[in-house]
Amino acid sequence: MSSLPLYLGGEWRMGRGAPILTRNPHDNAALAEVSTADASDVGEAVARAQQAMAAPGWRTMLPHQRALILQRIAALIERDAERLAQLQRQDNGKPIHETRALVASAIGTFRYFAAACETLDGDVTPARGDYLSMSLYEPLGVVAAITPWNSPIASEAQKIAPALAAGNAVIVKPSELTPLLALELAKLATEAGLPEGLLSVLPGTGAITGAALVAHPGIRKVSFTGGTVTGRAIGRVAADKVMPVSLELGGKSPNIVFEDADIAQAINGVLFGIFSSQGQSCIAGSRIFVARGIYDRFVTELTRRTQALRIGNPAEPSTQIGPLISPEHLDKVNGYVRLAREEGGRILCGGSRPTDAALAAGNYFQPALVDGLSNACRTAREEIFGPVGVLLPFDGEDDLVRQANDSAYGLACGIWTIDYRRAWRIARAVDAGTVWINTYKLFSIATPFGGNKDSGLGREKALDGLRAYMRQKSLYWDMSGRPLPWAD
Ligand code: NAD
Repeated sequence: MSSLPLYLGGEWRMGRGAPILTRNPHDNAALAEVSTADASDVGEAVARAQQAMAAPGWRTMLPHQRALILQRIAALIERDAERLAQLQRQDNGKPIHETRALVASAIGTFRYFAAACETLDGDVTPARGDYLSMSLYEPLGVVAAITPWNSPIASEAQKIAPALAAGNAVIVKPSELTPLLALELAKLATEAGLPEGLLSVLPGTGAITGAALVAHPGIRKVSFTGGTVTGRAIGRVAADKVMPVSLELGGKSPNIVFEDADIAQAINGVLFGIFSSQGQSCIAGSRIFVARGIYDRFVTELTRRTQALRIGNPAEPSTQIGPLISPEHLDKVNGYVRLAREEGGRILCGGSRPTDAALAAGNYFQPALVDGLSNACRTAREEIFGPVGVLLPFDGEDDLVRQANDSAYGLACGIWTIDYRRAWRIARAVDAGTVWINTYKLFSIATPFGGNKDSGLGREKALDGLRAYMRQKSLYWDMSGRPLPWAD
């Protein structure tokens, strides 16, 4: 198998790093060998990006012209949508209906930031004298985008589109487990007429390619999505460089069902919250709090419905649960089910490999519900990033808020109740970057997203997500014509 080249500053060529194999999680068959970048490739990509930033073409390009390029990228993703969704399904193992949604989200992201770029205001600040004062927004320079394996194309679009819209150059380091969609985006960006050098896609490991990128003095911001441990390490390097960093990290989100919830709605929301994407989702509703008064009834029905989820080949449109990303990740998730038992939990369903011979070669794992544990157990505190939901009863709002907030993370929260006053009270009391009321995993590119506490720093999406790739310049402009009096 010959290696796919990487995309370095407008050129498709082999990197100097050791190639990596990406595998189809459905059967672990090799899908592609991909060339990777070492530190010298990273240095070259940064130098070419700096040249492209300095060239008049990009520096003087007006926002509506940049917007046009982003619009063209969106149109090309739309043209190739089905091919991209199928490729992602093979690279990442998510069911095809989910990968189609991720491709659609990438299209929307490029369109949104095209529009935002064209309409973004600067500020004329109130003058306190005979002068004009302004706050101007300017690009940061060359920025790095480092992404995880769980939502390729959507994650990359969420960083590339605002970074380019803001006038930066961007170097993308996709996950070593799912490098293919970022490379496809590079092809489409070239076809859309993005000037050479402004985008590089450098596959490779975090330890080599990622670390070289973060540490490079020419990188002026890192936008990172991934685990909290990695995020902290990147944050430390950023502190030394005095460089802005945005960190979209892990979660252990509460999904809360009150006695007065619409139960049919809540059951669907809890199932979708924890088991869609096989639970490999930063916002997975993995701590399922249920009011004690309805606990037994709710858990019985939730267990029955979990057992009925359709696990299978992600190519089938009816599949709800596909394989996990890798055999190593399968072992990790399995290890958490073992830990749950050791901590005294009961596995109400799932928690083992399916018996279907057709799935034996893949990383399939049956969705599991655990009860009998407290919120203090490791199973309820650590991010499993797999299809394992922990059921936790609660007694009243105070107890619920105390338990929900007793977590290192603060990414998301779901609330199921028909009492609008209670929904408001709990939404304001829970420490989370996003709260859903009677829904879950609903997203709009026009609404900011990000985490609190160990779940991250900064916000992506929306206008805040665009300004996060810009720095402000204050400008004072004398209107009086009078010499400054001090020198007289
Ligand atoms: P990870 O932290 O292992 O890797 C993420 C990316 O960082 C990869 O590209 C990896 O190669 C790179 N990397 C690793 N070490 C690095 C280093 N020292 N310097 C620079 N780059 C480095 O995470 P993962 O296993 O790929 O993804 C799963 C995690 O991502 C979960 O914790 C999940 O919650 C989180 N996540 C968060 C969000 C969010 O928006 N908050 C979204 C998706 C996933």
